[in-house]
Amino acid sequence: MVSGTQLMEKVLFKIAKQWIAGNTIDDALTSAKNAYQSGRHAIVNKLGEYHTSKKQITTTVNEYQKIINSFRKWKIRGAVSVKPTQIGLSISQKECYRNFEKIILNARNAHVFVWLDMESSEHTDETIEIYNKFFSKYERLGIALQANLKRTEDDLIDLLRIGAKIRLVKGAYREKASISFKSKEDVDKNFVKLMKILFKKGNEFGIASHDGKIIKKAENLSKKYPKKFEFQMLKGIRDELKPKLIKKKFVVSDYIPYGVNWLPYSIRRIKERKRNILLLGSSLIQS
Ligand code: FAD
Repeated sequence: MVSGTQLMEKVLFKIAKQWIAGNTIDDALTSAKNAYQSGRHAIVNKLGEYHTSKKQITTTVNEYQKIINSFRKWKIRGAVSVKPTQIGLSISQKECYRNFEKIILNARNAHVFVWLDMESSEHTDETIEIYNKFFSKYERLGIALQANLKRTEDDLIDLLRIGAKIRLVKGAYREKASISFKSKEDVDKNFVKLMKILFKKGNEFGIASHDGKIIKKAENLSKKYPKKFEFQMLKGIRDELKPKLIKKKFVVSDYIPYGVNWLPYSIRRIKERKRNILLLGSSLIQS
């Protein structure tokens, strides 16, 4: 007999499949190839964070290496996106640096772009430190910055001074009111402010949002400031908009997560949108 938890997980997996490539590295590579054949670039991320098991960390690092090598072999325009706490930051900075260095050396040989995801605010300083250290060794390295944090404007200006490559996001983590903007209106306002700084002073950046109003504003800014940038969106979200942007000659990247740790990621996506909560409800009723 199927228990309530098993049923819930089965239904969630059915919904989650639109946002994740699947459980395995092969699923991720197939998804990246499909994105590429549809005119999009791929940014692959292995799901999972806060790893403290050295075995799990080694597997994660090895898989990023394999993805990088496959991109090189298949000549796919792709990147990997790494969370510091999945490659050792939860053990020590030294462990994280040692592992990130392996990824960076491999990426440098293969000419593959590497992104550093930004996690919750307790890791912001450490993530920027990692970026500063490795950007001096490899230029095809980018870092995500979150518009919901009050500190981000200063971080952005500092990072742009060294020519950093930025992915601007709204921010996926719940943060204290003392350090963050809480309302959607304030986060959106700050996103637009930071995006203007990026168009004026940055280059090779990513506007990572599904928000139609923000995307329109970016399109307009790009007419005034013709910079090298791309729109980045999560796999399975705003799929109707992506070909339209490509037709207008914008670069669009799909962020493609994979791995067995799909549940927290998918719950985040469900909570983001009322329609997805309704979809979950109706799927449960039908099961
Ligand atoms: P929202 O205000 O959430 O949504 C605006 C509009 O977009 C909605 O009204 C709707 O029309 C559409 N939309 C949004 N979500 C959905 C959905 N699930 N289904 C359908 N339509 C939807 N966060 C981090 O903290 N660190 C990172 O490193 C990071 N990397 C990211 C990389 C990429 C490529 C992307 C796209 C996001 C990343 N995020 C990251 C997540 C980000 O911070 C937001 O939580 C997430 O993108 C939702 O914000 P939004 O800009 O789409 O705007």
